[in-house]
Amino acid sequence: MNVSELAQKVAAGDRRALARAITLVESARADHRAQALELADALRGTQRQALRIGLSGTPGVGKSTFIESFGLMLVAQGLRVAVLAVDPSSARSGGSILGDKTRMERLSREPLAFIRPSPSRTHLGGVARRTREAVALCEAAGFDVVLIETVGVGQSETVVAELSDLFILLLAPAGGDELQGVKRGIMEMADIILVNKADGDLKAAATRTRADYSGALRLLRRRPQDPPDFPKALAVSALEEDGLAKAWEEMQALKEWRREHGHWERRRADQARHWFEDEVRQGLLAALTANPDIRAAMQSTGDAVARGEATPDSAAAKVLAQMAARD
Ligand code: GDP
Repeated sequence: MNVSELAQKVAAGDRRALARAITLVESARADHRAQALELADALRGTQRQALRIGLSGTPGVGKSTFIESFGLMLVAQGLRVAVLAVDPSSARSGGSILGDKTRMERLSREPLAFIRPSPSRTHLGGVARRTREAVALCEAAGFDVVLIETVGVGQSETVVAELSDLFILLLAPAGGDELQGVKRGIMEMADIILVNKADGDLKAAATRTRADYSGALRLLRRRPQDPPDFPKALAVSALEEDGLAKAWEEMQALKEWRREHGHWERRRADQARHWFEDEVRQGLLAALTANPDIRAAMQSTGDAVARGEATPDSAAAKVLAQMAARD
């Protein structure tokens, strides 16, 4: 199949074509890379936009249960839902925290749903690019909602937040009355905090935890791009499908507010610029480190720094000056 045929099928919403297209953007081969770019250009004209929801939470908090219940709810409303994953563990070790094979079985059987496991053997920069391109492909294929899931490890949350229109943090009920060591930076990224497992024995703890996070969120600086009551915390039960409709309502309310106030388009424009600059930066780095002279200089100067013959900073300044002199 050539690229324009593939583009046509993706634009027609063909899930097999979409899967093939994502495989193409994941490939490291230079000819595949060229085709992937051609494909992206061909599909840019569809101008379709999905609601891109980033979802983060530590293993065991209930991400897959939530996505399955939430996804099934949306599909029942006639919405098309795609699920992508950013799994930094698979990038490093080839193993997956998100353990894709057995997850979300019911959702994966739905004709309106598309679930893509996270790829292995890609570095985080590669994962970011691949996910960004996969999101764009899902949008071009006419999905209404794209859920981008990640575990709370390393930089993956930042990457997902930069790919999303809304960023959701999923938390478990706290055992005691302490907050769960959630880093401030992550709290600040969240548009909505969902305290999951608000059912059975855990219900009271979840209600308390939700109140604690509501209080903590109020202490954060208010964002001018959001209505006064955001970011907010809600209690949900993914297992009992409780509170999910309310969570969806809140997501849509936030989306509408941002659209009306022009923040939606601005965020997308800022993100596009961010990714453009990121791609150029990564390309520059790759080109530089592929240059044998520069590699040799990095190696020998690095050795000298390790032997204590130069400080890291002055050695780096010298190497950079040498590079600048080459151009
Ligand atoms: P993930 O690692 O974040 O994807 O978490 P899973 O969705 O695999 O869920 C981890 C465990 O928590 C499983 O045993 C789920 O059945 C359980 N779980 C998930 N959501 C809920 C919930 O809303 N209530 C309760 N009680 N358990 C849940």
